Amino acid sequence: MADLKFQRNFGIAAHIDAGKTTTTERILRYTGMIHRVGEVHDGGATTDWMEQEKERGITITSAAVSCRWNFPTANGQNVPGVTKEYSFNIIDTPGHVDFTVEVERSMRVLDGLIALFSAVDGVEPQSETVWRQANRYKVPRIGFVNKMDRQGADFLNVVQQVKDMLGAKAVPLQLPIGAEDSFKGVVDLISGKGIIWDEATEGMTYTEVEVPEEMKADVEHWRANLIEAVAEYDDTLMEKFFDDPNSITEDEIHEAIRKACIDLSIVPMMCGSSFKNKGVQTVLDAVCRYLPSPVDIEAIQGTDPKDPEKILSRKPDVKEPFAALAFKIMTDPFVGRLAFFRVYSGRLEAGSYVLNVRSGKKERISRIMKMFANKQNPIDFIEAGDIGAAVGFKEIKTGDTLSDENNPIVLESMFIPEPVISVA
Ligand code: GDP
Repeated sequence: MADLKFQRNFGIAAHIDAGKTTTTERILRYTGMIHRVGEVHDGGATTDWMEQEKERGITITSAAVSCRWNFPTANGQNVPGVTKEYSFNIIDTPGHVDFTVEVERSMRVLDGLIALFSAVDGVEPQSETVWRQANRYKVPRIGFVNKMDRQGADFLNVVQQVKDMLGAKAVPLQLPIGAEDSFKGVVDLISGKGIIWDEATEGMTYTEVEVPEEMKADVEHWRANLIEAVAEYDDTLMEKFFDDPNSITEDEIHEAIRKACIDLSIVPMMCGSSFKNKGVQTVLDAVCRYLPSPVDIEAIQGTDPKDPEKILSRKPDVKEPFAALAFKIMTDPFVGRLAFFRVYSGRLEAGSYVLNVRSGKKERISRIMKMFANKQNPIDFIEAGDIGAAVGFKEIKTGDTLSDENNPIVLESMFIPEPVISVA
């Protein structure tokens, strides 16, 4: 069984035009390639990517796309030179106001969110709508202020807007180095180091630099602000903050940020320019560090189909009876009708049967797919915490619970009216 600690199911929410498509495209590019400092840029990977790009239009609009990211860590601790592969499922959260219902549906199945803002336009109407929905579903989020290269970009102004307009305790983790068309990189307030993305490698690599002299006072101020904001989540950190701030370790700060973020007490804020290949990789590291894994989420609750008063729950564990929620039905040009679903518990093998609790019918899942940037992979089985797409349903609609036939459960459904898709 895959270790769920290294799995992340997240969405990217943004007002239209803030750069969601560009950011998603960059994520798929970086995760499909060699991307770490000091690693050799592999020409082969570039060619592959260009091949992949032909199909990218389709995958980017897929309800969920999977990729892997090498995060520099050994079991959460920072160990130089050691990386751990994380599996990501990026769930599409529609950005247009008309799709509010769909946004709601996607909030249901993701564990965390990257809230994307334009550094020029800040908090916009659709950011507010999505934010409220994320609050309702208690989704932890990281803020990414994009378009830092644009004229009028102002990171700290957007941080202030998130506080004032969205009522969140937004806490900067970075400060930008340079502004507008001279935007070069960021100072990481945790490590106290500057990061400058290398233009020649399209941001695939970066160089660590000392904090520019004129930024030192600001860095000190905002670092203290960050530690103060999260200190209450870690007793050692709190003690050290008052007694000996210099003895605070980076891992202690990361761990306190993680707890505060999952607890919805803070929204860590980062910045960059996805168009200029700056900052997206650090956001992916933050996804690994701070957003919850499927096992950080408490057991999902549902009801007994025979007795709606009776509450049942399922833990994110392969040993539990199978329970999944279908969150999007779409037609794919390659494989036909696909039902995207999130598995909350248990395990499902391709070719086996599941109960659609609403229709009361057993259905055979002929194939289970995972959608990657460049290919659609059939998989033999899917387990708790993961997201996949099933081929072979005769009748299914969004919001349906798929369940072990001997242990049926209805996962809290939103009952969104929608025509039933039926295939003869
Ligand atoms: P979406 O509507 O949120 O998916 O936004 P897109 O990714 O399509 O981006 C909207 C426009 O903004 C496009 O013209 C992008 O090229 C541009 N854009 C996206 N990110 C950046 C950025 O970081 N800097 C600049 N200058 N332009 C960007």
